[in-house]
Amino acid sequence: MKRKVLIIYTGGTIGMEKDYETGSLKAFDFSTIANKIQEINLLDCEVGLYQFQKPLDSSDIGPRHWKKIAEIIHENYEDYSGFLILHGTDTMAYTASALSFMLRGLRKPVILTGSQLPIGHLRTDAKENLLTGLYYASYYENNEAVIQEVALYFEYKLLRGNRCMKISAENFDAFKTPNYPILGQSGVNLEVDRNVIFRPNINEAFRIDTHISNKVFLLWIFPGMNFNEVEQLMQNSEIKVLIIKVFGSGTFFSDKNIEKSLQNTRNKGIEIVVISQCISGEISVGKYDNSNIFKRLGAISGGDLTAESALAKAMHLIDNPNYHEDFATLFQRNLAGEISN
Ligand code: ASP
Repeated sequence: MKRKVLIIYTGGTIGMEKDYETGSLKAFDFSTIANKIQEINLLDCEVGLYQFQKPLDSSDIGPRHWKKIAEIIHENYEDYSGFLILHGTDTMAYTASALSFMLRGLRKPVILTGSQLPIGHLRTDAKENLLTGLYYASYYENNEAVIQEVALYFEYKLLRGNRCMKISAENFDAFKTPNYPILGQSGVNLEVDRNVIFRPNINEAFRIDTHISNKVFLLWIFPGMNFNEVEQLMQNSEIKVLIIKVFGSGTFFSDKNIEKSLQNTRNKGIEIVVISQCISGEISVGKYDNSNIFKRLGAISGGDLTAESALAKAMHLIDNPNYHEDFATLFQRNLAGEISN
């Protein structure tokens, strides 16, 4: 049976070519993609295309577009075997994380890819990423999709979407999942590590939950920072979740005035989540005395979540009427393979 993959083209470098008059990169009409990558016609799967009306630099992609992508997948779920989202690399890890929480009970591959060089460039990485992305999006065995999660394919590696971070603005090898193994690798064969791929709960039917709140704030602390400003911001805003990127495995200033200021934030009902400034490893409250403040404040450990995933998870869970447990319990639960328990 011929598999069908829906390409959802949102924009980014992958869909750009050089305008020889101006010398700048600009988006081309993606429906002509088969003229640029003729190999698409040779694939053993049918390809459908949904193009964003105006291709976007991914720095302009946010909650509105995450919802739209989730809805497109929902509307086309029965008609396609898999989905390939073409997206700028800059915020791809955020979109991948958000989609992993919005697409519940997913049983088909949803793969994001893009490129560092435009498709029209002689040395482009777009061709490989797109073609192998299509392979992974149509990869079935015994009538079952091998990948049943939101993943990101880039430079020969298949990675869990909500564990990704963009680590290079220069190298083709631009993404990493520092706290999780690679899901698959493409060499001569298309490989998938069956021990690490995600499987949804078998009782959960596919549905979307596109709830997203923007009442979330991320704070990266640094030695010598002025916490009065932070307190003022917290007291005068509608923020409901404050994610703090703390040092190492969870250490923080021992200054009592700063603790008081954070206590005032908690008293206002704001949830505090702690994640690490380190790229790999996890939060371990209680390991150092300078992390015990988070126990006293009743803060939530973000474990080994990336900032991208912690933000998307908090935005999805806070005030979400579809969940009935408290935010702290939900936040610490592994919902889509994003956190190690
Ligand atoms: N600025 C571009 C974007 O993220 C970069 C890329 O596509 O790689 O949309």
